[in-house]
Amino acid sequence: MTVRKKWWEKEPLRFECQADCFKCCTKPGIVYFDQAAIKNGAGIIKVSVEVFKKEFLRKDEGHWVHEVENGKPCAFLIEEGCAINSGKPLQCRSYPFWKENLTSKSMWKLVGGFCPGVGVGPETALTAIRQFLARFKL
Ligand code: SF4
Ligand code: SF4
Repeated sequence: MTVRKKWWEKEPLRFECQADCFKCCTKPGIVYFDQAAIKNGAGIIKVSVEVFKKEFLRKDEGHWVHEVENGKPCAFLIEEGCAINSGKPLQCRSYPFWKENLTSKSMWKLVGGFCPGVGVGPETALTAIRQFLARFKL
């Protein structure tokens, strides 16, 4: 049986996050924090897991999330970038290679209209894209 290739498996996708952009950290929405990201984030900013949850997160359908409100950036965005960069959530690590962004070429183009890193820089290895999709499923 032959498995049909996804569109992004047939043509290389270029991506390079642009220095000092941070647009995706200011977009209103929800950032999912799994247990590892909560532990990492709390450790980096040197607070307990309980305080981290209380200060920054809320429960949404069983998941811990940080809400980025309209007109306000993510609470972890500081002048230098993400304050919890080395332990940031999978969702942030995976962007823009999210399932919803790769549904079609036109969707990817739409993402490129927002993210200046899409379509530039080196080709992203298929193994890396598959890993992003496997690890961040929400
Ligand atoms: S919008 Fe794109 S280029 Fe800008 S910070 Fe986010 S991933 Fe990087
Ligand atoms: S956690 Fe960090 S990378 Fe993720 S949205 Fe917030 S500032 Fe951006």
